[in-house]
Amino acid sequence: MTKFIALIFAAALMALAPFTMAQEKKSFWHVPTPTDAQHVKAAAPFTLTDYHIHLRLGTTCVKAIERQEATGIQSGILENSGREWPLFDDASLLAFIRYNRKIMAEKGVKLPIGMQVNDRDWFTYFSPDVLKQLDYVLADTMIMDDENGQPVRLWRADTYVITDEEVWMERYFRHTMQILDEPITILANPTYLPAQLADRYDHFWTEERMKAVIDRAVKNGVALEIQAKSTFPSVKFIKMAKAAGTTFSVGTNNGDGEIIPYDRWFRVIEECGLEESDFLKIRY
Ligand SMILES: [Zn+2]
Repeated sequence: MTKFIALIFAAALMALAPFTMAQEKKSFWHVPTPTDAQHVKAAAPFTLTDYHIHLRLGTTCVKAIERQEATGIQSGILENSGREWPLFDDASLLAFIRYNRKIMAEKGVKLPIGMQVNDRDWFTYFSPDVLKQLDYVLADTMIMDDENGQPVRLWRADTYVITDEEVWMERYFRHTMQILDEPITILANPTYLPAQLADRYDHFWTEERMKAVIDRAVKNGVALEIQAKSTFPSVKFIKMAKAAGTTFSVGTNNGDGEIIPYDRWFRVIEECGLEESDFLKIRY
């Protein structure tokens, strides 16, 4: 009987093991294990700041501080803004800033606070005095209006089919250029393509279009992001951008506790010969 109970107990432990391991792995993004933190410290070529940490799904300001202390990668925290997102007026933005500043004061650590913008008239939602309290503004191109003016989340390939790809690409390119003219600090995931077009990146992102994006970013002082979990932009684009004097930033764009190693940053930095002085440094 005792043997039977022991067998049941062992079976239960085995059933629980994958769950426990998954939980441990999940913590890699939030606060890495000492081994993972050592790996990051050894692989980072110089001090970097991750300006793309969303406070959502269990990621908090405190975890961003702990992660910074564990890895040496500085943390910048942000929240989404727009009609369908948490920050949509002065009161919601001020509450977000004040709440996180208070936590930072309690911890004795200051992180830059940013906002990700998703609507193209975002700067009309907030008073200039309130916007000034942010340390940075980040945008990406991944929500674009369709032909009827309805916002489409371009990563939702299951619900969105592009009919004329060439016409769509020209419209998307102009959408990218428009965003680069907004008062933003960082363009995240530059040259992103939805799944339907992504296998023909070099066809849609011609050198002419790449050059136009890079020149506009340099002219307007917008940093271009290298994201840990995205294959965009290409190494070719980053090399062209480096030659044109672009400022870069790094980001993770965390979601649901997923594992996002920073290795892509480090690989791209080495392959493209990027230096510390090529990266955005915000005073805050
Ligand atoms: Zn984001």
